Amino acid sequence: MATQPCVCGHYGSGIQECTCTAQQIHKYIGKISGPLLDRIDIHVEVPAVQYNELSTKKSGETSQMIRGRVIEARKIQAKRFEGRKGLYSNADMETKEIKEFCVIDEAGMELLKTAMTKLGLSARAYDRILKVSRTIADLARNESIRPEHLSEAIQYRSLDRNFYST
Ligand SMILES: [Zn+2]
Repeated sequence: MATQPCVCGHYGSGIQECTCTAQQIHKYIGKISGPLLDRIDIHVEVPAVQYNELSTKKSGETSQMIRGRVIEARKIQAKRFEGRKGLYSNADMETKEIKEFCVIDEAGMELLKTAMTKLGLSARAYDRILKVSRTIADLARNESIRPEHLSEAIQYRSLDRNFYST
């Protein structure tokens, strides 16, 4: 799913100025209900790209390389859920499995607690963060979920963040 950031479409673009009032922006984003946002694992802001950025040849990770990492992470998950009916990937986990496979240390707990309060996250968003952080750890080939994996997953809840929710 995709949405504009506001009515005029320029909020946060850094290229063109947004002409909307704060009230208009809140009303616009407020049309997407909390329960709907809760059901989406990852929210990211995609900034507008200038033509010259598109045409420069920057060497990042190739699709081939990313594909390799994804296949590896899927293998880890297939092994994790071996013999469990209806469970193939981290996204399929229910509360019981989340408790079993998304164990986080004290530093992670503290981080999550702060994020929950600051962002006013729901229990559903909390579960999503844990599942996404499990996947981020898998992609990094880490057996345990580290605070940096959690903070990355928290970043992917951008629509829960203050500006939009207040
Ligand atoms: Zn605007």
